[in-house]
Amino acid sequence: MSTLDIRGLTATVAGKQILNGIDLTISSGEVHAVMGPNGAGKSTLSAVIMGKPGYTVTGGQVLLDGVDMLALPTWKRAAAGLHLVMQYPTEVPGVQLDAMLAEALRDRGREKDVATLGATLRAEAGRINFDEKFLDRALNVDLSGGEKKRNETLQMSVLKPKIAILDELDSGLDVDALRDCARRVMDATREDNLGALVITHYSRLLEELRPSRVHILVKGRIVQSGGPELADVLERDGYATFSATFSA
Ligand code: ADP
Ligand code: MG
Repeated sequence: MSTLDIRGLTATVAGKQILNGIDLTISSGEVHAVMGPNGAGKSTLSAVIMGKPGYTVTGGQVLLDGVDMLALPTWKRAAAGLHLVMQYPTEVPGVQLDAMLAEALRDRGREKDVATLGATLRAEAGRINFDEKFLDRALNVDLSGGEKKRNETLQMSVLKPKIAILDELDSGLDVDALRDCARRVMDATREDNLGALVITHYSRLLEELRPSRVHILVKGRIVQSGGPELADVLERDGYATFSATFSA
C-alpha cells in the first residue's frame, strides 16, 4: 500500500505563481481525476511532482510513503515509484526503448525482470495493440501521437510504478488508442495496485478510466472535489460555474 501526499503545494513558473496551494492524497488502487480548463496549471502540477526543470516550488510538500520527493532528482523520484505519462511525449533519438527500460529496471534492483524484458515487452505490446516493430526503435522517434501514448503506457506497465500521473492521456489520441491505453491503466490498478492521477480536460477519458474521486482545478487551486458524478456535472455545465466559486 502506497500513498502520494500533496500538501499545500505552491509553485511558480517564469516568475509567475501558477499553483496556489494543492492538497491531494492518492493511494494504491485508486484513480483520481484532476480536471480543469486550459491554463489551470494541470501540466504544471505534473511537472512539479516529477521535478521538471524551470518550475520553482515555493511551498508545500510532495511525499511518497512519507519520503520527500521534492528533495530528490527526477530519476530518483521515478525509481521511488512515480511515473509520468507526458502530455507531449519527448522523442529521444539514439536511445532504444528496451535499453532505456533495462537501465531503469537495473536501477530498481530488478535484474530478474531485465532477463525477461523481451518477452514482457512483446506481451505488453500485444495487450495494448502496440505494433512490435516499434519495440526496436529509438524512444518515441517517428511515432504518431497515438503510438507515442501507447509507448508511454507500455513503459508504465513494464516499470510498474506505485503511482502514475497521466497528463492528458487523451490528447493527440484516436478513440481506439485511448481505449487501449485507458484499459491498461485500469487493469494496472487492479493487477498491480497502481494509484493513478488522471489529468484531463474532457470527461470522455473518464468513461474508460473510471475515477473514484474527481477534483476540479481552476487557477492553480482545487475548487471542488467529489465522486465520479462531478465529471458529469462538468460535461453538462462546463467550467464556468466552478470558476465562479473561485476568487483570486
Ligand atoms: P494546463 O496544463 O492546465 O493547460 P499549464 O500548467 O500548462 O496548464 O499552464 C499553466 C500556466 O503556466 C499557463 O499560463 C502557462 O502559460 C504557464 N506555463 C506553464 N509552463 C510554463 C513555462 N515552462 N514557461 C512559462 N510559462 C509556463
Ligand atoms: Mg496541460
